[in-house]
Order: sequence, then C-alpha cells, then structure tokens
Amino acid sequence: MVEINAVGVIGAGQMGSGIAHVCALKGFKVGLHDTSRDRIEAGLATINGNLTRQVAGKKITEEERVDALARIHPIVSAEEFGDYDLVIEAATENETVKRKIFSALCPSLKPEAMVGTNTSSISITRLAASTDRPERFIGIHFMNPVPVMQLVELVRGIATEDETFDAAKRFVARLGKTIAVSEDFPAFMVNRILLPMINEAIYTLYEGVGSVDAIDTAMRLGANHPMGPLQLADFIGLDTCLSIMQVLYEGLADSKYRPCPLLVKYVEAGWLGRKTQRGFYDYRGEVPVPTR
Ligand code: NAD
Repeated sequence: MVEINAVGVIGAGQMGSGIAHVCALKGFKVGLHDTSRDRIEAGLATINGNLTRQVAGKKITEEERVDALARIHPIVSAEEFGDYDLVIEAATENETVKRKIFSALCPSLKPEAMVGTNTSSISITRLAASTDRPERFIGIHFMNPVPVMQLVELVRGIATEDETFDAAKRFVARLGKTIAVSEDFPAFMVNRILLPMINEAIYTLYEGVGSVDAIDTAMRLGANHPMGPLQLADFIGLDTCLSIMQVLYEGLADSKYRPCPLLVKYVEAGWLGRKTQRGFYDYRGEVPVPTR
C-alpha cells in the first residue's frame, strides 16, 4: 500500500504553485521544482500571496499560512526527489518537455514512488510509457485555480495498477477535493467539452460576429457562465488552450477541432493571457481592456 506523505511538484507556474499550495495546507511535505531558482522563488511568492489572501478572507489562519509555507521546500534539481512518495508533473503543456522531465526524474525516485501528471490533454498511456513505472503512473488533473476549484479528474493509463489508482483517490480525498474518473482519450472530459467552446468563441470573434466584450457579455448573461469564454481563455493561458486544441485535432483526427487562426496569432505574438499581461484583454492598466 503506497502511503503518500511527501509530494513533489515539477513546474512552479499557475498550476504547480496551486498544487503545492493545497498539498502544503493539508499537511503534506512538498518539494517544488522548476527550471531555475528564480522561477521557484516566483512560485513561492505566488503561493504566499494566495495564502495571505485566504487569511484576509478568514478561510485559513495566519498560523496555517506560516506552517504551509514552511512545508514547501525548493528543489533545484529533479534528482532531489529521492525520498518523495508522489511526484506530480505540472510543467508546460508540451510532450517533449514532459518526456525530458520524466527521464531526468525517474532514475532517482525510490522504486515504489508514484508519478502523476497534471497534463490537460496529452495521453497518459503515452507519457507513462516514457517512464520506468507505467504501472505507478497516473493523470491527476487539477483545475485552475487549484485552491478554489473542487474537481480533480483522475485518468488511468492502460498500465496503471489498481493500487496506484486507489492511492491517488485517497490522496485527492485528503485534499478535500472530488474526483471524476475519465478514460484516457484526448483532453479527457472537462477540456474535451470546454475547449471547443472557447475555440468557437475565438472563431466568433475572428469572423466578426461580435467583439470581445459582446461575446463575453453574451455568454455571461445569456448562458449564466461566471466568466466569458475569452476571459476564461486568458485565465487558462492561450498557449495552453492552443496545445489542447492541437491535441484534440490530431488525437481525434476531426476537423471540428481545428484551432482558430486568431488563437494561433495571439500565441505567436506572445500574448498568452493574464500570465503575460495581454491576451484577449490587456491587463496592464487598472481594469482589463479588450484588445480587439
Ligand atoms: P505555466 O506556464 O503557468 O507554468 C509552467 C511551468 O513549467 C513554468 O513555470 C515553467 O518554467 C515550468 N517548466 C517548463 N519546463 C520545465 C522543466 N523542464 N522542468 C521544470 N519546470 C519546467 O503553465 P500552467 O498553466 O501551470 O500549466 C502547467 C500544466 O498544467 C500543463 O500541463 C497544463 O496543461 C496543465 N493545466 C493547466 C490548467 C490551466 O488552466 N492553466 C488547468 C489544468 C491543467
């Protein structure tokens, strides 16, 4: 039986910092790794900012904030994960990047350690096959922002053992979150449904049917969505949205998933949404201003 006490997180971006945040709050020892010390520090600063907001909102106490931060250890090299029970990869949505991470990580892990990936769309079976432990590999797909969102999709690869699946279920339950089990098909369930809607919103903009503001207002007030689809795309990250559409398009070989050329253009411009301060909205001023 795999007992998870120490959780490694690879990638200290939006998702990795969120995963480290919730694990540390629930008492796990956490190791946080990224490509440089600066990026790890930036991730820790984000976590501290979000914990501080939770203290201000009386969701946690100041003592819990301090204790959670003390549980998170910067990990400069992937070889330092030797005593961790579960390592979750939450790096950029790019299969080559993820494969390189697994080949650097796996040789230094203890034999019984589990490896998880937070990929939004890439085949768990294929990623698992690039490791030395496909039976102890699983998709643990958190939603953004991790401290707020209740759902985690669990995705077994073809070789994932029951023991790994059960340990992942117990781990998610300890985080106080709810699982939905998805088969291993491109983009799983949430993004299989959500991303084509976002892509269609971008086509609606591209074809001049409505402005950024009109499309988001239409879906907020007309479909009662808490956020407009273009606002949501900026929130997810336009590079991540494009990668998911490409995985759907290639993985399901259906033209209905073709990424909108306007999405491609924004990504080529480096306008990736909130994380770069510009996407369908410009976030550099006091209030977000539509960029089209
Ligand atoms: P992000 O761009 O905010 O962060 C990615 C981080 O990975 C960066 O800090 C980057 O430096 C780091 N990284 C890149 N290569 C690395 C390497 N070789 N070793 C260590 N770190 C490396 O992206 P994100 O939004 O946090 O997405 C991360 C993963 O989570 C992706 O697989 C994405 O599909 C998935 N995901 C994203 C969302 C979302 O809404 N953004 C939701 C669920 C899942």
